[in-house]
Amino acid sequence: MNILVTGGAGFIGSHCCVQLLDEGHDVTVVDNLSNSSIEAIYNIELITGKKINFFEIDLLDEEGMNNLFQSKKFDAVIHFAGSKSVSESVDFPLKYYFNNVYSSILLIRIMAKYDIKNLIFSSSATVYGEPSSVPINESFPIKGMNPYAISKIKVEEHLRGNFHEYPDWRIILLRYFNPIGAHKSGLLGDNPNDKPNNLMPFILKVASMEEEYLEVFGNDYETKDGTGVRDYIHVSDLSDAHVSSLNYLLSSDEKSGFCHALNIGTGRGYSVLEIIETFEKINNKNIPYKVVDRRPGDISQSFTDTELSQRMLKWSAKKDLNDMCKDSWKWKQSEMKRKKYES
Ligand code: NAD
Ligand code: UDP
Repeated sequence: MNILVTGGAGFIGSHCCVQLLDEGHDVTVVDNLSNSSIEAIYNIELITGKKINFFEIDLLDEEGMNNLFQSKKFDAVIHFAGSKSVSESVDFPLKYYFNNVYSSILLIRIMAKYDIKNLIFSSSATVYGEPSSVPINESFPIKGMNPYAISKIKVEEHLRGNFHEYPDWRIILLRYFNPIGAHKSGLLGDNPNDKPNNLMPFILKVASMEEEYLEVFGNDYETKDGTGVRDYIHVSDLSDAHVSSLNYLLSSDEKSGFCHALNIGTGRGYSVLEIIETFEKINNKNIPYKVVDRRPGDISQSFTDTELSQRMLKWSAKKDLNDMCKDSWKWKQSEMKRKKYES
């Protein structure tokens, strides 16, 4: 099948491209490289021994996107492209409404124009805000606590609205929990162009001695050890969930179209201190940390109920926290070697 992957040079998109190529799909990537580099595309090709059709286009460039859709007929679109920092979204909300919401509307419109009806969209567990209980299932209320979360909710709403207009579209909204880890080759990983805000990229900076210590944001939450609890999922398992979603879109015996929202996580919650401890043990590295105030806007705990995703996609996460910590560090070490070699 011909699959268009938006944001395919990014962290999750690049891993997904590897899996799609391994499954025998023909993969086209559009990415403006605003938070990634062309190296990711070369490395996908190196890992798979297959060719990617890469286009450096901004989703907001209507003419460029139109030319792309005119040149090739796609069977499905997997839409990763967008901006992903919660804190940046608080400082620059308009950027998030423009780059996440408006760009998605343009994509939906162009898909409709060229009669492409299969879509997987990268949503986020952040759409649940502070849940009243855990585990979180898909019927929990949606609450946008920051512009990033609101941007995801808006796109979900547009897709549901669009579905009413085009009832034969087949749409899966994947609400990811906390993706970490990296490709086992060490060639692909989370490579943000700016200073990272997320836990694992920051732990990697401490492990590589680019930062002196990790700040643990609060130890007075009502959790097992007082630090925040999240459902971390290996990026390879997350990529598998996309391949399973694609199979569902392309072969489901649901007669009419659909728009399903699915949570994608492992169903297990780990605290910040558990992550530090596991990382230290598996990689034999010391991660110094200091407990500081809570980060504004943080929730205490979040992990998913896996029942619906398992039942619908026949998918479940396979890798454990040891794999996630090991592969993350392997990726960081490869990146350090590459940088040293380049300089
Ligand atoms: P990423 O930043 O690594 O990848 C996004 C890619 O999209 C980048 O390569 C970037 O250059 C590209 N891009 C951004 N704006 C674009 C535009 N206007 N036109 C073309 N390309 C553009 O992020 P990621 O971690 O791979 O996340 C992928 C998706 O998953 C995002 O939509 C993100 O919001 C969502 N998500 C991520 C996480 C996470 O923790 N990583 C969690 C939940 C949801
Ligand atoms: N966290 C932390 N120090 C950091 C980054 C994150 O203590 O430098 C904590 C954060 O408070 C949360 C957990 O790690 O409890 C995961 O944070 P992340 O930003 O990775 O994911 P999110 O909060 O968006 O789910």
